[in-house]
Amino acid sequence: MNHPALAARTAVVTGAASGIGTATARTLASNGARVALLARRTERLDALAADIAAAGGQALAVTADITDQASVDAAAKAVHDAYGQVDLVVNNAGVMLPNPVSDGRLDEWTRMIDTNLTGALRVVRAFTADLTAAAGDGRTADLVNVSSIAAHVLFPEYAVYGATKAALTQLSAALRTELGPCDVRVSTIEPGLTGTELGEHIDNPELREQLGGMLTAIPALSAEDVADLVAYTVSRPRHVNLRHSVVLPTRQA
Ligand code: NDP
Repeated sequence: MNHPALAARTAVVTGAASGIGTATARTLASNGARVALLARRTERLDALAADIAAAGGQALAVTADITDQASVDAAAKAVHDAYGQVDLVVNNAGVMLPNPVSDGRLDEWTRMIDTNLTGALRVVRAFTADLTAAAGDGRTADLVNVSSIAAHVLFPEYAVYGATKAALTQLSAALRTELGPCDVRVSTIEPGLTGTELGEHIDNPELREQLGGMLTAIPALSAEDVADLVAYTVSRPRHVNLRHSVVLPTRQA
């Protein structure tokens, strides 16, 4: 779908090295937005930026670890130096590390909380002034938070992941009360099963197999399906906030 309203936008997409982030960056760029690509894997970002440029778009690869404040500060500076003010932020980077809580995996809990929640907050901290200034100048400004149906649906062994996503969904809703009056749209997107690399970091063989089984049993969403929803959401007229969307594969109840 074409979204001419995106042509003048300057976007930051976190987690752009794979999956939903890559697809979102491509979709925004193909609609004319300038897109800063943030993630840790530099080679992936460089390749994506080159692909986008070859297709006639504009993208900037910015290596960043959202669990590291200095790295986010440096990324924000690189984005500002290259593109100036940002008016569209997609907080998409995330990790999903399921295990029974009784295993006591403090390492995984810390990593999920620091990426999915505090990491998203670091990005909010880095770019909220841009969003409010852009909105103050009469432009459309968006903060999109990619949460998950795990914010609401209970999955055994995914308690901490679900808790981080519930927190992100709640944060997103609460931020609307602060940023909405400044004309900054805040929207939450909660995908269901989507075919990406998300499950590749699971170190519990049974849980890896379980997720693989779900991906075989249910035709999952593609990353492009979710990117399409992000692009639709941020291309509405600026007084319209599609504030909370849940997108599921048709066969996922
Ligand atoms: P991927 O694993 O493909 O993408 C996750 C992205 O996050 C990667 O590009 C990764 O890049 C980046 N990332 C991870 N940690 C960091 C970090 N510390 N700093 C910067 N970037 C980081 O999975 P998805 O595309 O599926 O995930 C995108 C979002 O969608 C996540 O928030 C996930 O929770 C959510 N989601 C996914 C669902 C699914 O079924 N796939 C369902 C519901 C929600 P790099 O490793 O290079 O840093």
